[in-house]
Amino acid sequence: MALIVQKYGGTSVGSVERIQAVAEKIKTFVANGDKLVVSVSAMSGETNRMTELAQQIQDTPSLREMDVLLTTGEQVTISLLAMALQQLGCEAISYTGSQVRITTDSAHGKARIKSIDDHRIHASLNAGKIVVVAGFQGVDEQGNITTLGRGGSDTTAVALAAALKADECQIYTDVDGVYTTDPRIEPNARKMNTVSYEEMLEMASLGSKVLQIRSVEFASKYKVPLRVLSSLIDNPIGTLITSEENIMEQAVISGIAHNKDEAKLSLIGVPDEPGIAYKILKPISEANIEVDMIVQSVSAREGLTNFAFTVHRNDFDRAQTILQSICNELEAKAVQSDDKVVKVSLVGIGMRSHAGIAAQMFEVLHQENVNIQMISTSEIKISVVIGEKYLELAVRSLHAAFGLDKE
Ligand code: ADP
Ligand code: ASP
Ligand code: MG
Repeated sequence: MALIVQKYGGTSVGSVERIQAVAEKIKTFVANGDKLVVSVSAMSGETNRMTELAQQIQDTPSLREMDVLLTTGEQVTISLLAMALQQLGCEAISYTGSQVRITTDSAHGKARIKSIDDHRIHASLNAGKIVVVAGFQGVDEQGNITTLGRGGSDTTAVALAAALKADECQIYTDVDGVYTTDPRIEPNARKMNTVSYEEMLEMASLGSKVLQIRSVEFASKYKVPLRVLSSLIDNPIGTLITSEENIMEQAVISGIAHNKDEAKLSLIGVPDEPGIAYKILKPISEANIEVDMIVQSVSAREGLTNFAFTVHRNDFDRAQTILQSICNELEAKAVQSDDKVVKVSLVGIGMRSHAGIAAQMFEVLHQENVNIQMISTSEIKISVVIGEKYLELAVRSLHAAFGLDKE
């Protein structure tokens, strides 16, 4: 008998039939004697639909009201799933984030979980019930409803698993595991049986949206055994995300991530003198805009240089306006902006002990005539910014060149 936390994503609960199928699946675990806590997302498309409704009223609605709105999506699915379970003769009860009491900070739209009160859940489990908890939501200390950021139901599930010391946290989605790259981009992508927390963290933060970054952070911090599985087909193995020492064979490159949310801004012809990076990036960070990659070119003629960085596409317009005023202030030559760029990254722990991976990556892109606009590296990843239209070409040619399609 095990205590299992399961999470079903939007597609998995996208219709009444799907919700009923999820209930059937849960029933098989209960029949096995397991105790189940199940966290669910809103039905697929619902969170986007509500966001569009809000935007018909206000361009930038209050973040607090957005959280009140968006959390209703998960409230719909917890109740429907509890009903579907009851219909199958299973005892089940649903709770919203605030009913459990998942306490978060007050950063609406991207709140962080501070604590989970497990009393109510344990009481319901002990009464023989399946506990269904709304994903993606919590409540701050003042009682305001909060959300955990897009994809946040993954984090709810892992945090519940950590708090309840569950035997495993299972993330059910529309793919049967974590692949060497997004199977929607490269059909030859291969499912991995195991991935280390560290690699999964890099993959998630570099754009592999199969798991929200914070869910992997939680899993790694509290050593939660985390498994990604398909809700649509039966394959109980999926992909296990675990500690590095549990992984027998380590490939040099384990995966390729991509991120389409990037936009690039450059300031051309700024004086090459101390304090320039500070003068450019301070107003950007004061506007709460996160900067990802940064490149300052070597001083060109006349003591002038170029300074480029990337931001999230959602912040592109705001960043552009700010950079234009910095341009005027510093008497730079021009602002250049491009929101048709993407970031493609190679990830692998094995890179630590292998030199020359970057050169090999650049060679492949050169052969395909893909121009690299920016580069950044760390111990276990190499990222490049390239034109959006080369995304598929770059991912597929790198995937083949590094043999990721082969066992
Ligand atoms: P859910 O609604 O269940 O949370 P998501 O859409 O958030 O599902 O995540 C699943 C999707 O993640 C897949 O359909 C796939 O296109 C995408 N994805 C991106 N990178 C990967 C990867 N490396 N392995 C598997 N899926 C990936
Ligand atoms: N419904 C939320 C979203 O679409 C949370 C989630 O699905 O994980 O982002
Ligand atoms: Mg998701």
